[in-house]
Amino acid sequence: MLFKHLQEYFICITMKLTARQILQKFLHTNYCADGGAMQTKNVTLPKLNNLSPTLESTALKLMEETGELAQAIGKLRGMNGESSRLDERQAVQVIARELLDVAQTAVSMMFVLEEQYGVDIDSVHSEHIEKLKKKRYIVEDE
Ligand SMILES: [Mg+2]
Repeated sequence: MLFKHLQEYFICITMKLTARQILQKFLHTNYCADGGAMQTKNVTLPKLNNLSPTLESTALKLMEETGELAQAIGKLRGMNGESSRLDERQAVQVIARELLDVAQTAVSMMFVLEEQYGVDIDSVHSEHIEKLKKKRYIVEDE
């Protein structure tokens, strides 16, 4: 593991990446236009090209998948009256899978908004980040 990081570090030096780019590569830290740093999780999810989603179908699917996520968490916490047959490690894997279903459905809805309603998701994304900062859910490094 250490060797892999050292190897990547030397690749960064060879590529003449800046300290900021190296930090971004290792810590998944992104920089905002104003220079502030925030840790991010980048997940790329596909457009489902064998379906014909609508705003309504994706909204309903989002609720369905959110319900499945809640159910998976309920099972982990023993909130459904059943004694869970899964150990914690297995249960959190199920939770993670359901969370990805939620994320996939959200991404599908983004495609619907862009393609069928002309919404500029990148612009809404920027507004979203600003909102998080304004609410102080993200604070700048000082
Ligand atoms: Mg699901």
